[in-house]
Amino acid sequence: MDFSIKALTEISTLMAEEIGKQIEAERIQDLQALENGIRAMLKEVGQQTYQKVLESEDEKQGKQIECECGWRAQRISKRDAKLLTVFGWVSYRRSYYGCKRCGQKQNRLDREWGLHPGGVSPVMGKLLAIAGVDIAFEKARRKLKEFLLVEVSDNTIRKQTQQMGQRQAQCEAEWIEASQNETWLQKRERTIVEGPERLYGSLDGAQVPIGEEWRELKCLSWYRVAPLYGQTRLKAQSMSYHCEIAPAQDFGRLLWATGVRRLADKAKELIFVCDGAAWIWNLVTHYFPQAIQIVDWYHACEYLTPIAEAIFPQDSDRTAWLQSVKEWLWQGQVQKVIQACQSYLHHPSASEAAQRAITYYTHNQHRMNYAEYRQKGYWIGSGTIESACKQIATARLKIAGARWTISGAIATAKARAAWLSDGNYFNTLAGVPSSA
Ligand SMILES: [Zn+2]
Repeated sequence: MDFSIKALTEISTLMAEEIGKQIEAERIQDLQALENGIRAMLKEVGQQTYQKVLESEDEKQGKQIECECGWRAQRISKRDAKLLTVFGWVSYRRSYYGCKRCGQKQNRLDREWGLHPGGVSPVMGKLLAIAGVDIAFEKARRKLKEFLLVEVSDNTIRKQTQQMGQRQAQCEAEWIEASQNETWLQKRERTIVEGPERLYGSLDGAQVPIGEEWRELKCLSWYRVAPLYGQTRLKAQSMSYHCEIAPAQDFGRLLWATGVRRLADKAKELIFVCDGAAWIWNLVTHYFPQAIQIVDWYHACEYLTPIAEAIFPQDSDRTAWLQSVKEWLWQGQVQKVIQACQSYLHHPSASEAAQRAITYYTHNQHRMNYAEYRQKGYWIGSGTIESACKQIATARLKIAGARWTISGAIATAKARAAWLSDGNYFNTLAGVPSSA
């Protein structure tokens, strides 16, 4: 924005004079007090400026306006309203007009500027939601007070965060509807030129506390894998996250709808890197039969640890065994891994873990050709870092003491999913562009 330097200089000169008086009166004696003094002043100036601008915009409308019925509506009163902004509560007065013909009473300012009296401004709403998607609402409140010098309730933050999640839910519902519509799909078929070269998808589930019970939040993510700029290390990029507490069948529709948006069905290579849960592979096979299925490396290794722990009391023995078995897995020799587990089937303390591992490796053998995947340059997952559920459920919903209603959990999780997604997606939902 192109403000007049002269005007800004005048404002800062006045502010400096005010601060100077506070220093003389010894109310400001150190750098902290100085900086906080300037912040408090800017906040106050912001509030007053906000109010003045709104009221002068209101005044510009004059004593009468054109009513929707075509008649002239006269100003009959001015009424107070307030709005929670990043500068705190801004109070303002605006005109009410009454039409003698149709009897309608209205104020134009709120409508023209999209003001919701008593509510939260869009910019503040976005900030509250951003705070609420990352940490507990109560912590977010304390943090925001430090950052903005504005006192808001936990509940206001909760509402703004969950509102963002509800907008996400609306978008997803529209995508689901479109992706189930034959006409829409045929039209899309004619417009798409080319799909992505190599696209990845991941699905998983995590238990979250709903009231007194636990429910599974299912999560999915779409991403590409490429080195970061100027680096050789591969990293998941262009992430988009989605989640739902729903039966697998319903979640499948979200998988398909979001996949259609990412052109997953048109990808030259579509690769799913997931844990071994049956519902996941069933959905993948149903919606994307052409996809390459890979068991996430982290989950593949996870089954070995309990066996090693049961057999080897010594750290060094345990590590040595794990290393050699993981090496076979890394080379795609799943049969050898299964045989290694079989040799402990009758071990008194390891048999249960061995049985579980054998079942898992046998079922998922064809998804564990790691040597081949590595040779083709496929990403096999590098641990839990990329897990969508870790990002959404574990990091936000499963924090100590958190208890959710089902709609609150879903809305918060969806808001977080939107926030974690790359690009401008969250800003679009918030209706507020990223500040430069
Ligand atoms: Zn009228």
